[in-house]
Amino acid sequence: MAKEKVIEEIIEVETKEPIVESTNSIEDLPGVGPTTADKLRDNGFDSLMSIAVSSPKEISTITGLSETVSRKIIKVSRDKLDMGFESGADLLKRREKVVKITTGSKSFDEMMAGGIETGCITECFGEFGSSKTQLAHALAVNVQLPVEKGGSNGKVIFIDTEGTFRPERIIQFAKGVGIDPEKALSNIKVARAFNSDHQMLLAEKAEDLMKKEDIKLIIVDSLMGHFRADFSGRGQLADRQQKLNKHMHQLMKLANQYNTSVYVTNQVMSKPDMFFGDPTTAIGGHIVGHNSTFRLYLRKGKKGCRVAKLVDAPNLPDSECMFWIREEGLRDE
Ligand code: ADP
Ligand code: MG
Repeated sequence: MAKEKVIEEIIEVETKEPIVESTNSIEDLPGVGPTTADKLRDNGFDSLMSIAVSSPKEISTITGLSETVSRKIIKVSRDKLDMGFESGADLLKRREKVVKITTGSKSFDEMMAGGIETGCITECFGEFGSSKTQLAHALAVNVQLPVEKGGSNGKVIFIDTEGTFRPERIIQFAKGVGIDPEKALSNIKVARAFNSDHQMLLAEKAEDLMKKEDIKLIIVDSLMGHFRADFSGRGQLADRQQKLNKHMHQLMKLANQYNTSVYVTNQVMSKPDMFFGDPTTAIGGHIVGHNSTFRLYLRKGKKGCRVAKLVDAPNLPDSECMFWIREEGLRDE
């Protein structure tokens, strides 16, 4: 395990740059003909962004081109993408469009400075039973509220990898906020993902739906379950991280492009004692962490409450709050 963690850190790719949309295809890169393009696509490098954040060695191994040519390809991808630079005014404009979705608990919302933000990924990690899935259900309902009530009048895509989506729970939460339960259910598009490839495909297909419907929340519950099962051998870790990186990029792209919130759940390491006494280490390594803007750690507290801890959020201090899961939603007591 400890070794795995180290490997995860080494192969991590820094991916905090904002995604700037481009109509360029990878065939426009120098030295990339149809055959090379196919090889790149087969390995998950299907966009300029994925190439721009890769290494010459990676590209060279996949395509059989020299590292010098690979370096050039990466450089041109970066140039074409105009990577990383947006004017302050553009960013401000983008920030103004951000909507915050209420969790249902005032203290939780306050900790998040209003709620779960659109335009970015919120990762929620914690042990089994810590209420990650409950929060997913609550958000799936609350996002449908009008803006003044803490919603976004939006619809939901729910990618369910563990079979834990419960329509009955949606009905209860909808009643709790005064939304017609039938309507609430019809606004949530649920897809069961059966393996990691299927999960990735669903995230790609999500875009078709988003072009037609006003989706304001994408849920992936859980993000890592299939990736863990499908790439269980130590030798498969690099493959897993590469696919996971692609998956996270896809989600980030959707969040950015459609000003949608993305909520993903994650498990914690099963042997936390091995990692420098930090019991809150989420799996997926830095690929997941670096791609998530907000990271929430949930755990069971005293007297049946749950504790949410916000870690590493931009502009917000690390802090904790308590909340309760009630029949009708998340509450402060
Ligand atoms: P995780 O996804 O983190 O494994 P869940 O979100 O599934 O955890 O949390 C399950 C917990 O939610 C249960 O242990 C229970 O305490 C609480 N819960 C589930 N349904 C209800 C309900 N109808 N009313 C109150 N609490 C509930
Ligand atoms: Mg769950």
